[in-house]
Amino acid sequence: MSTLFLRTLRDDPADAEVPSHKLLVRAGYIRRVAPGIYSWLPLGMAVLANVERIVREEMNGIGAQEVHFPALIPRDIFEASGRWADYGDGLFRLKDRKDADYLLGPTHEELFTLLVKGEYSSYKDYPLALYQIQTKYRDEARPRAGILRGREFIMKDSYSFDLSHEGLETAYQAHRDAYERIFTRLGFDYRIVFAVSGAMGGSASEEFLAPTPSGEDTFVQCTNCDYAANTEAVEIAAPAATSPEDHPAQQVLDTPETPTIDTLVERLNTLGLGTFTAADTLKNVVLRTHAPGSDGWELLVVGVPGDREVDLKRLGGQLEPTIVEQAGPEDLAKYPALVKGYIGPQILAEAKIRYLVDPLVVEGSTWVTGANVADKHAAFVVRGRDFTPDGEIGAVEIRDGDLCSRCGSPLVIARGIELGHVFQLGEKYAKVFGLTALGPEGKPVTVTMGSYGVGITRAVAALAEQTYDEKGLCWPVGIGPADVHVVAASKDAEIIAAADSLSQEIEAAGVRVLFDDRRSVSPGVKFKDAELIGVPTIVVVGKGLAEGVVEVKDRRTDERRDVAVADAVSAVLAATALPKTAG
Ligand code: ATP
Ligand code: MG
Repeated sequence: MSTLFLRTLRDDPADAEVPSHKLLVRAGYIRRVAPGIYSWLPLGMAVLANVERIVREEMNGIGAQEVHFPALIPRDIFEASGRWADYGDGLFRLKDRKDADYLLGPTHEELFTLLVKGEYSSYKDYPLALYQIQTKYRDEARPRAGILRGREFIMKDSYSFDLSHEGLETAYQAHRDAYERIFTRLGFDYRIVFAVSGAMGGSASEEFLAPTPSGEDTFVQCTNCDYAANTEAVEIAAPAATSPEDHPAQQVLDTPETPTIDTLVERLNTLGLGTFTAADTLKNVVLRTHAPGSDGWELLVVGVPGDREVDLKRLGGQLEPTIVEQAGPEDLAKYPALVKGYIGPQILAEAKIRYLVDPLVVEGSTWVTGANVADKHAAFVVRGRDFTPDGEIGAVEIRDGDLCSRCGSPLVIARGIELGHVFQLGEKYAKVFGLTALGPEGKPVTVTMGSYGVGITRAVAALAEQTYDEKGLCWPVGIGPADVHVVAASKDAEIIAAADSLSQEIEAAGVRVLFDDRRSVSPGVKFKDAELIGVPTIVVVGKGLAEGVVEVKDRRTDERRDVAVADAVSAVLAATALPKTAG
């Protein structure tokens, strides 16, 4: 450490919000250059290398082959896929000296597809899986939390190429299994949750999340079964559908000045029709959608029980790449049939307005809703009798205690960091670029692809986030910048020499050592630094040496014991042994 390029900091950086960010900066792993842009210092590089090595081993283990694409990509390639326009503000765009447009790759679907198309032509060439570990550029709207969400970051991205859906499923499963091994070996507590794959939907899409309070992703877990999904993809249990005919006829009610659900419920309960709550009302929220490539916006009304809010992020996730947002007065003005505060679905089909309901609004359910006339609502408005929606979409904000669609038990909401994503991309890019293989009968078959990403730099921060304590970082064995931190707890030359030779012995036994040989630093500062840096085993060579012992300390539990110098290497080997993993 006397020559290591490292300066630890006593204070948290002013711009840091989350613990991993504060600690990685304070412990000298990373330094900020600009928002979302970081330099990596030697300690950080060591952790990064461990993460990359494990990811490489597991990718190679499933037969994926490593390639490397440029980050600098000419515009025409992204023009062909439509992403030059669709990616919007998230894309870093630049020009060369001849004024030609380029971009810095946010992902590399286009290049993977084109590369394979250039090399392979026969069905005999497949299946194939390729990956790279590469720097990505995304002009994130809110680069926060340090390297958890960078604008320049490292990703492992891989793609599988198959000629049938069964082939794709096999490749998907192989990647999913490899990801389980990767995140287990990295020491993560992780969950695999269902995700939606946007417009490409319908096929498998799952995210690997690290549960932590600072995570940006919200997901839902069943308290009973193993169902877990992100809030875009979650399905909650709905009441059973009933016959729409078993209800009283629709009844229009005078409900002056009741534009909100609360005022409406209050009024309803004075009418002698029974007792009502917000959950008995049907709220119709007016939104607008814009599909990429289309010119302009389309109106969309979404119906949810009145005691629920519409979750725009959840809707957006399902409609992606179509954009959805709240409609404005100018949109409403185009549809005089919509009476603000008194909108009901009874007239939407006739007004040619698209209407979707949350699955909680089941067939045969009866509601109080707007009568499409100012100051009037209608009761006993029944789905399947008085209105028929154009479809269903999970739109309500999920609540703790909503019921699992699998087993009916309560769900709980938690936060997590997305570590990786596996999904069945299908033929989208193969179609765009004409990636086909000549089949056995001489007919071309379109290749079907799977897409698999791991955030490499994010994994470093996420792991720090899951393992830190009040003293500092706290790496799992095998992942930190070293596995043993030897502290020479004295300025005494004899003690430093003994610590030096012990460090060399430990290293010779195959364990990575960080040796604090600094002469100008007090033992107290050395201990603090060791705790901050977070190497899992700390060996203190100090006064005990006179009695022939050193102290071996577990960074996490703070458990210490004196060990005879002669036994120190074997004690360290035992402490740093990786847990045996299956296979
Ligand atoms: P997010 O929802 O967090 O923005 P994403 O859905 O855009 O992620 P993908 O495009 O699937 O992410 O990228 C694959 C992986 O790359 C993610 O699972 C994540 O681990 C990592 N990743 C994505 N964006 C960033 C970023 N800005 N900084 C660091 N890692 C990132
Ligand atoms: Mg993103």
